[in-house]
Amino acid sequence: MDVIEGLWRAAKDERLGHALLFGGPDGVGKFASALYLAAGLFCETGPGEPCGQCGACHRFQSGGVESNHPDLLVVDPLDTGAEVIKINRIVFREDSSSKDDVELRRTVEGFLDLHAIESEWRVVIIRECHRMNVNAQNALLKTLEEPAAGTLLILETAQIGGLLDTIMSRVTRVEFTPLSKGDATELIYELSQESDFEVGEKMAENLSRWAKGSPGIAMGLLREGRTGERDLLLSLLAGRRGAVDCSRAVWDLDGKFGGGTDRAQARMRTRNVVDYMLEFMGDLARCCAGADPREQIHAELLHALGGDDSPALLLALGPRVDVARRRLLECRTDIEANITPDAILDRAFLALAILVKRAPARNS
Ligand SMILES: [Zn+2]
Repeated sequence: MDVIEGLWRAAKDERLGHALLFGGPDGVGKFASALYLAAGLFCETGPGEPCGQCGACHRFQSGGVESNHPDLLVVDPLDTGAEVIKINRIVFREDSSSKDDVELRRTVEGFLDLHAIESEWRVVIIRECHRMNVNAQNALLKTLEEPAAGTLLILETAQIGGLLDTIMSRVTRVEFTPLSKGDATELIYELSQESDFEVGEKMAENLSRWAKGSPGIAMGLLREGRTGERDLLLSLLAGRRGAVDCSRAVWDLDGKFGGGTDRAQARMRTRNVVDYMLEFMGDLARCCAGADPREQIHAELLHALGGDDSPALLLALGPRVDVARRRLLECRTDIEANITPDAILDRAFLALAILVKRAPARNS
């Protein structure tokens, strides 16, 4: 994370620009790095690597990606499901009938007008900032022209072409290139320590494979309680728990989803689990064709089925993999057809269980 360390050093030497543009392809950790940069600015031992122990770090850690730190504002269209970032997220509209304080503070301008509450910094992160429409971008320009001391605006996007030239000329560009496997794992590990979902290094490596090297996606997996789903699948595949038992246990897992009714969230969770199982079916199909189980995305699930000990065991599963996959695809269709999520989830776990039932007993 040389880039971020360089930015902390610049902050220490008081030569950090007040507007940064984190550019580069999707899934390389731009947004995650922006959060990490902010955490290191707020930390009482900073600017530098966040200690994870001080009051500022604790406040940063609680409240998920949005964080409860009073000096951080995150505009995250992915979290709210907004296609477009409109001007009302940037400035408070004078003509608005209800001028309440909370709404004012949630705008970029309103937030930056306030004095820093507990650190020397006020940081605004705008994720996928190309989603700002022209009005919003023009409004943002004003805040870029007269920055108060100690303010930092971090714009994040994979689509720099979507920004006005006038914005481009006022920001310092920081380019991100795809992360190496080791860097992705390290960043996921670090970020998890800064969040409510601490994981060990081994798990960070698993998550990195699962998220295909994207720290942002990995943190989303953690936030939605996906590691709990993984534990249930492991129990099922290793023959420790039954299908319906596992299915019911899904509803007790923690998980934070992007809004919607309980029913919508249940559907989201069901979709997650079924997609996860389907992705695993892809791994299995590749192994049935002779690929190495240890190199698959969900290697640990294959391991639970006994795939490491005996590749022949996975090869023999071939026909049942086809059946399970067909049933899971039916479940996938039914989710969109608005059928009760828990019934679909039961069927999905039962579909997966056929891989376990008649698997030859492993020698102990
Ligand atoms: Zn700290």
